[in-house]
Amino acid sequence: MLSFCCLLTYSNSFRRIPGLNTPPDALKIAAFPLIVSFQLDFLCFYLTIEWPMNSIPPLRLDPIDSHVHVVGNGKNGSGCWLKLKGKHAILARFMVAQLGLAQSSLSEDLETLYVARLLELLRASSLKKAIILAHDQVYLANGSLMEGAGSFYVPNDFVLELARTNDEFLPAVSIHPARADAIAELERCAQLGAVMMKCLPNCHNIDCSDRRYTSFWEKMAELNIPLLAHTGGENTVPVINPEYSNPRILTRPLECGVKVIAAHCGTRSGLRDPDYFDVFASMIPKFPNLFGDNSAFNLPMRCKPVPTCLREPIASRIIHGSDFPVPVSGRWARLRGLISQDDFKKSKDIVNVIERDFFLKKAMGFSGDTFTRVHELLPPKKSGSFLGQVTKNKIK
Ligand SMILES: [Zn+2]
Repeated sequence: MLSFCCLLTYSNSFRRIPGLNTPPDALKIAAFPLIVSFQLDFLCFYLTIEWPMNSIPPLRLDPIDSHVHVVGNGKNGSGCWLKLKGKHAILARFMVAQLGLAQSSLSEDLETLYVARLLELLRASSLKKAIILAHDQVYLANGSLMEGAGSFYVPNDFVLELARTNDEFLPAVSIHPARADAIAELERCAQLGAVMMKCLPNCHNIDCSDRRYTSFWEKMAELNIPLLAHTGGENTVPVINPEYSNPRILTRPLECGVKVIAAHCGTRSGLRDPDYFDVFASMIPKFPNLFGDNSAFNLPMRCKPVPTCLREPIASRIIHGSDFPVPVSGRWARLRGLISQDDFKKSKDIVNVIERDFFLKKAMGFSGDTFTRVHELLPPKKSGSFLGQVTKNKIK
């Protein structure tokens, strides 16, 4: 305890150094993250406290992974495309490797290999279903396509069809609200069983507060389709407008009555991103229809606010998501003292990344409700299936 207090005082003293909030870039890169972001990281190795494993009681509803990406290169006629350049190409290769797929899969029939692997991992995990995400193209506010922008595309019909043919999948479509056909496409997708709408405002160039989108948000509320919107920085997909990373941008859809999930709770992705978690937290009391997901919380930066996420009023608004195929390592939660050394060791033995993420979220202390809460947000089931009366010939 004494060493804890000493280290806390030591680390806090750095915060009082004049000008530390505006250090030169080199200092920011080299020293600031080490001092501020990992100020308690090494302490946890010296603590001998035994963490009780968070054993969750049996769940009433199926646990769902609410944030699972689908990617493809269109080799099988899915309509998907993938354009990888620079750091995004490196990240893609890294993700492919951690999925256990060959690097050659990026130039083969990627979606077939990817979906087969995803199903294999999901079926072998504690999660019963996954919400799979389409990914729209990038548009200007006037509704015209931004040619050359974006690094991948996953058509709505592809995830709708995957969900129609696999009980484990629930489809989240992706529609830029500036599109001329945005509302028509939303209604069509809702008819075909869409349970959610996913977008990345900073990467898709969506100013959610733009008054021109109001009728789109109102239609989402009317159809009971929740919005899953990326918040915080992003490193895997090119960012078009960093200002749209701020969860404050979700105010308009929230005011229109849309149930909104702020993906990643506004946390930062890279060392140099602004951290918007406090903005997200400040919006929670004001908007009962605002939720946050804990997806990618097993990356170095995003797990920082976990202790706050485990306390009310935020705990009852957190929804489980993995952000598959984003890498999952218990190292970062361990370094921050969020899990025990024993659980860290156990997590390393879990080969299945979806299960490893589930295990680590439990070990961090997320309650059982976190894994089923998304049921409260989804549109009502029709005829025993989320997809209701969808027939194959409705999906091209
Ligand atoms: Zn994601």
